Amino acid sequence: MIPSGAQARSWVASVRATRRRPRVDSPGQSPSPERACRRAALYVHWPYCEKRCSYCNFNKYIPRGVDEGAMRNCLVTEAQSLLRLSGVQRVESVFFGGGTPSLASPHTIAAVLEAVAQAVYLPADSEVTLEANPTSAPGPRLAAFGAAGVNRLSIGLQSLDDTELQLLGRTHSVSDALQTLAEARRLFPGCVSVDLMLGLPGQKMDQWLGQLQELLYHCDDHLSLYQLTLERGTTLFTQVQQGTLPAPDPELAAEMYQEGRAVLREAGFRQYEVSNFARNGALSTHNWTYWQCGQYLGIGPGAHGRFTPQGDGGHTREARIQTLEPDNWMKEVILFGHGTRKRVPLGQLELLEEVLAMGLRTDVGITHQHWQQFEPQLTLWDVFGASKEVKELLAQGLLLLDHRGLRCSWEGLAVLDSLLLTLLPQLQEAWQHRTLLPVSGR
Ligand code: SF4
Repeated sequence: MIPSGAQARSWVASVRATRRRPRVDSPGQSPSPERACRRAALYVHWPYCEKRCSYCNFNKYIPRGVDEGAMRNCLVTEAQSLLRLSGVQRVESVFFGGGTPSLASPHTIAAVLEAVAQAVYLPADSEVTLEANPTSAPGPRLAAFGAAGVNRLSIGLQSLDDTELQLLGRTHSVSDALQTLAEARRLFPGCVSVDLMLGLPGQKMDQWLGQLQELLYHCDDHLSLYQLTLERGTTLFTQVQQGTLPAPDPELAAEMYQEGRAVLREAGFRQYEVSNFARNGALSTHNWTYWQCGQYLGIGPGAHGRFTPQGDGGHTREARIQTLEPDNWMKEVILFGHGTRKRVPLGQLELLEEVLAMGLRTDVGITHQHWQQFEPQLTLWDVFGASKEVKELLAQGLLLLDHRGLRCSWEGLAVLDSLLLTLLPQLQEAWQHRTLLPVSGR
């Protein structure tokens, strides 16, 4: 059910009264396990786009028309159902992703936020992010999203070269992107993120660094760098396979990444995660929840979530995926209150693997205190302290294990995948050894 107008106004009013989202220089301590079970981040998937980008294999649809009222009702219903099921009492961030959520009406965004605010505690200064594509987000529309409760924008800019934007199949031009960025910064000062891609077919280092330097003149306090991945089934993949486009050079892409992160560091940005850079404390708290393996609920077609269904008497965290196709998803939501297609209980070792792989993506890494929230008996020292291979990584300066915990160095962050090839088997071995020990011997 959509909340009543009177109640809706109260949450939006409280958001307007909150001048600005607080900045986070330090993302904070892990909450106690009991408190962590009561809080979650919320991801909302808007599955529609105007046009298919040539590189995209996300769960998105290009519809002839959208029954937005039906979609809105279903998003609200599913949010209410999953919040009830999770037993969560507090939502600390909401992220509208897609697809292209800036194609949804501000009314839909407000309705979802109001439903959340009525079901659980949603602090007025919670981070509420909307992904926006430049062509679907002119100034007045951005302002309307702000009035609906959005306080952070993530703009899919991707490139500052019109030829590259055409190659990527984007609907916007460089001038559209810069205009949207300027409007966004005026309306959401300090809370605008931009995405820039690297490793495109035929892209040259100097030309790409030129784009990055230009972006530094225009951008706000948050930037994400993404390497293009050629996904099977996309137009770009076919073009490369057929030889009409040169295959991207992975070594050049790795160099671009290294040069790019150095440029950003020089410009005062903190690389707080493998792909994410912030200055003035403008870290994304929503994404931080993912990297800290906090609970999150995913609503909308194909959304992913990870939470313990405590409201249903559950004690085990589950990985959940909602039905992919929007019409089928809507039918299920109408019938059952939610469109959960798959539930996979996560074992303790699986969870620890995630804590390790996700935590090491951040510059803070995994603190001892954080690890203990998930595994009170086996410490980071127990798992990694005696390993010869890990000692080599420490000696090479790629990894640090000390009184703070385990984390990558600046150099290590760039080669995290290769570090995990050593660290994950080490964890599996330590875990196996632990479970083989008699209880009194642990
Ligand atoms: S706008 Fe985003 S989700 Fe939509 S097709 Fe392009 S890359 Fe994919």
